[in-house]
Amino acid sequence: MAPAHSEPELRASLDAVPRYRAGAAPPPGPVGVVAYKVASNENPYPPLPGVLAAISDAATGINRYPDFGSAQLVAELARTLGVNPDQLALGTGSVSLLEYAAQISCADNDEVVFAWPSFEAYPIVTAVAGAQAVQVPLTSDHHHDLEAMLAAITAQTRLVIVCSPNNPTGTAVERSAFVDFLKKVPSRILVVLDEAYTEFVSDDASFDSLALMSQFPNVCILRTFSKAYGLAAIRLGYAIASENVASALRAVALPFGVSSVAQAAGLAALAPPAQRELQARIAQLNLERERVVKALGALCAANPEGNFVWLPLGERSAEFANLCQEQALSVRLFVGVGVRVTIAEPQANDRLITIAQGFSDDHASA
Ligand SMILES: *Cc1c(COP(=O)(O)O)cnc(C)c1O
Repeated sequence: MAPAHSEPELRASLDAVPRYRAGAAPPPGPVGVVAYKVASNENPYPPLPGVLAAISDAATGINRYPDFGSAQLVAELARTLGVNPDQLALGTGSVSLLEYAAQISCADNDEVVFAWPSFEAYPIVTAVAGAQAVQVPLTSDHHHDLEAMLAAITAQTRLVIVCSPNNPTGTAVERSAFVDFLKKVPSRILVVLDEAYTEFVSDDASFDSLALMSQFPNVCILRTFSKAYGLAAIRLGYAIASENVASALRAVALPFGVSSVAQAAGLAALAPPAQRELQARIAQLNLERERVVKALGALCAANPEGNFVWLPLGERSAEFANLCQEQALSVRLFVGVGVRVTIAEPQANDRLITIAQGFSDDHASA
């Protein structure tokens, strides 16, 4: 009799891969209360009509494979950014480019240094590449501790990820501190600057990260159409790097990963009329952010530069998240650390403010 078939043997290191926790849909609220999902830093605005039209046009051709190199979109992005097209690599969301960055830099047991708490995909892409995560705690005011990150670099370090503005704390790295950091990181190490929220950064905190690449060819910038551009479900992100690094990213990329529909949506979103409307929306969301930050006061971390706020409530985080759930706001809870809330529709922001004010009053009187 043939031996019983068993499950195949999988890579032992897969056990080390944490599972991604996707932002939850909002629970149904009390009768008459509209539910809002503020757990995934999505854009509350629906797609622009011009982008939707481009998507439905492109949908008529989906019996064909997409253009392999996304030539038109790459050309338009290169023109917009003022870089050489060969410096770009596209991916199905910038999460895919994070994975590619780990793949091109790390082999088994190499080390990836990043701040913590930061984006939850970093430990995953590190483990998928078979590498070891080296998590460096943020400073007490929720910023990257660049000094400590430097100190964490060893001979095994192949990749350093800096998230600015940082998800979930909203803090941005400062230009001069980042330049000092880059001067000290050994140039053999790939430094990924994850700028998923760069469009929301205030003028005061923003700097030309692209300009740093001529001085530091080991820097790779990641951006996405998911957040400010409001195209999270189209799955489109890109890397800007040296031609050598960009070429390596393209070499490991999933073939045809960027669909024709995504390419068309990206092109339409870059067109001047769409850009004007997107800038207006970003300005509006930033005004809302300012309003929320003022109302939340000491409950939220100072100077958030993304489309979200961070409430570092420690042990009280779950209690706050529960209050939000009861009011049909699905926030993102980091157990024992804090709560991240997306700046969304004004009504959702109003509700957050009301809950937060009740919460501080309760704790003030306790
Ligand atoms: C949302 C996010 C991304 C990008 O997500 P994609 O949808 O895959 O482009 C990347 N980095 C951070 C820090 C994010 O919060």
